[in-house]
Amino acid sequence: MLVSLGITHNLKSPYADERQRGFRWLRFAEFVEEEFRQAHIEANAGRARLVIGGAIATILVMIGIAITNPSASYFMLAFEAFVMLPVMGATLYASAMPDRQRLYQVLLAASALLIGLVINSVVTRATLAGMPYYFAATISWVFVVWLILGLPFRYAAATSLTISVTYGWGVVQWNLPIAEAYFEILMLGVVNLIGAICCYQLEHALRRSFLESKVLSQLAEQDGLTGLYNRRSFDQQLERLWRQSRREHTPLTLLLIDIDHFKAYNDMYGHQAGDDALKQVADVIGFGAQRPLDMAARYGGEEFALLLYGPASEYGRELPDQIREDVLALKIQHKDSDTGPYLTVSVGVAQVLPGAERSMAGAFQMADEALYEAKEAGRNRVVVKESNATLQTGRFRVDRSKVVSA
Ligand code: GH3
Ligand code: MG
Ligand code: MG
Repeated sequence: MLVSLGITHNLKSPYADERQRGFRWLRFAEFVEEEFRQAHIEANAGRARLVIGGAIATILVMIGIAITNPSASYFMLAFEAFVMLPVMGATLYASAMPDRQRLYQVLLAASALLIGLVINSVVTRATLAGMPYYFAATISWVFVVWLILGLPFRYAAATSLTISVTYGWGVVQWNLPIAEAYFEILMLGVVNLIGAICCYQLEHALRRSFLESKVLSQLAEQDGLTGLYNRRSFDQQLERLWRQSRREHTPLTLLLIDIDHFKAYNDMYGHQAGDDALKQVADVIGFGAQRPLDMAARYGGEEFALLLYGPASEYGRELPDQIREDVLALKIQHKDSDTGPYLTVSVGVAQVLPGAERSMAGAFQMADEALYEAKEAGRNRVVVKESNATLQTGRFRVDRSKVVSA
């Protein structure tokens, strides 16, 4: 079923594109990758914090023991106190900073590497002292690096391979009995292989479900027929922009666009032809939402809304007429229209500067009154109302059906 999610119309979906393209190399393009990393960190940082916190506590105990032990290695003590603790502390700190994703992941990999190196040195010394079973610690840590810390695959690979290679180097360096050395190197190879496969599959599955949930939430905002935003998401966007516009004293332009004599069009050409015409008109209107905060929506049956944020000036004045002309230029034949030979739209425009004394409902009513005037004046035209005109607020929408049929 989800394959068909790739088909989005008007509403651009970088997530559906990524899904289509595939991500064998575990990489998305630019901001999708950034968003995924953020989601990935949010899903995994809790576990990583637990492990790093545990490691910090262990190191503090080790430092405490070393201080009271006259034969302890000063190099090791200094390394733990002045390299490991600061790096791990910084990792914990960065894990709480959402805009420091890459830094956090690099620090986490560095912490994992440092812990691995300390484990390697402890295990090697224990093995030389006749306690080869300490090797289980290296094996376990390699698993933790691949699967528990939630590192991206590349980082996990670089970290666990470095730990494994340095361990192998130690085995050769310290002349472990040959049979033991072979066994340990073989074990490390197997554990890395299993860890790599599982880590890859895990990240691949996470990426897939990330994209699917993004595509699904986009679909929930879309109108099924035209692919424009639906009424619910338009209302939410209007609310958001209304507040932003009040803060920034930026005007808003609201367009209500209604197809003329559409009932007659349906009656003459059939419902399917009506749907096709709706899609073509929707494409024209969708094109009007050019800037990042602008939004085009199918507001009801054959009624569309377009919200323009920013200095309305020329853009806000010319665009409605451009849309009206572009719909006419589609040359969709409409023999039963009193307005002309082709399908046309009427456009009501409200230009408002949101303020304490104005309400969103008032702005809507203003656009609706403008649309009504455009219909009354003969359709296929644009009527613009500005916010300094007197407003008769109180009703949210003018009940046009009654007026038109009167
Ligand atoms: P006016 O010029 O005053 O706007 O007249 P109108 O006929 O366009 O307006 P009216 O509100 O009377 O009719 C709207 C018609 O739009 C009724 C309905 O058949 C049609 N319509 C609404 N939604 C859809 C849809 O999803 N598909 C199709 N094919 N037609 C639709
Ligand atoms: Mg209509
Ligand atoms: Mg209508």
